[in-house]
Amino acid sequence: MVLDPAHGGTDPGARGTGGIRESEIVLDFAAQVRRALESQGFQVVQTRQGNEDPSFDDRSALANAQSGAVFLTLHIASTGLPGTARVYVNSDLPVSGDVAGLISWDRAQTPFQGLSRKLGDLVQGLLAQRFKGSPSTAQTAAVRQLRTTAAPAIAVEISSVVVENRADLDRMAPGVADAIATGVAAFRPSYVVPTTRGGTP
Ligand SMILES: [Zn+2]
Repeated sequence: MVLDPAHGGTDPGARGTGGIRESEIVLDFAAQVRRALESQGFQVVQTRQGNEDPSFDDRSALANAQSGAVFLTLHIASTGLPGTARVYVNSDLPVSGDVAGLISWDRAQTPFQGLSRKLGDLVQGLLAQRFKGSPSTAQTAAVRQLRTTAAPAIAVEISSVVVENRADLDRMAPGVADAIATGVAAFRPSYVVPTTRGGTP
């Protein structure tokens, strides 16, 4: 399991008027998500532990280096109804015309889109039970971090940095952590690593 607290370093992410920085809050959320996953027996690798800013490709590489990884990037949104959470999966990409049938790095997500959708819907459903007003299924978007990731991969966006008191966000962390850990555990038995090569088997 690769857990990605988004942004960091010179990139603070979204900022609220109350001085809330997305890059700091996602680290706190990640710590709680990590504990919840570990208590379900998952091994967790984080793309950053502190205020570093690894590149998109560095973050994807952590998942792409292992077979059977699951990737989750955590964000605090600047939009959305405060107290809700949304899951995104990468939008469908045009079919590759590569002659060799190899999937290029920037389309690494393509063979995993069905699995990502399944994982995303599971986690979103669990978030909707805990946070009223959240959507019931995952949404699609062009998410740069997910596109280069060769694993089931979702983005979780928590709303939002506009809250005046960061305690309003902190209160959501245990529910977010539990929804993610429960969703990943439910997803795991259906996860069969797809082949990344095209053509005949
Ligand atoms: Zn973000």
